[in-house]
Amino acid sequence: MSDRTITQAEVEAAVRVLIEWAGDDPTREGLLDTPARVARSYRELFAGYDTNPRDYMERTFEEVGGYDELIVLRDIPVVSFCEHHMLPVTGKAHVGYLPTDRVVGISKLARVVHGYARRLQIQEKLTADIAGAIDEVLKPKGVGVVIEAEHACMTLRGVNTPGSSLTTSHLTGVIRDDHRTRQEFLRLARGVG
Ligand SMILES: [Zn+2]
Repeated sequence: MSDRTITQAEVEAAVRVLIEWAGDDPTREGLLDTPARVARSYRELFAGYDTNPRDYMERTFEEVGGYDELIVLRDIPVVSFCEHHMLPVTGKAHVGYLPTDRVVGISKLARVVHGYARRLQIQEKLTADIAGAIDEVLKPKGVGVVIEAEHACMTLRGVNTPGSSLTTSHLTGVIRDDHRTRQEFLRLARGVG
């Protein structure tokens, strides 16, 4: 990553070039404020670079009352951008783990997903990043992450397949190796039965 500080003016100039490249006139009224808006929305859409998602899990609770079953948070919205085309990847993540002695507040799992999603990503790496962070910080008996997402670079252009989605999964520990735990996680992640 470069240390050079990029100015908002430089970003706006770059967006004006893209508008011209698309075939429009960046000086017409409707487009005048667009470069500034794009610059601001980039700060929000790529806010993941300003975070270390591991930090979200720093505060854990050890008093789990003997709870030793899977914890699964379903349907966490995923908004990411594919690193090949910088087009949106949108979908849902299902995240679970089997705790050893520590659990985190469930909203923290969603924040970990957002922290890694709001970057330029490929879905496979995003899935592994989330699982790896939970594995490292909470040291649970196992982690499972399933992401189902639509890639605008596929649905809006190229092979043009609206409605198609990509499913990726990353399982570790007993969720990967123990048949029953794995089935249980996948059943909970799918939200059936
Ligand atoms: Zn792409």
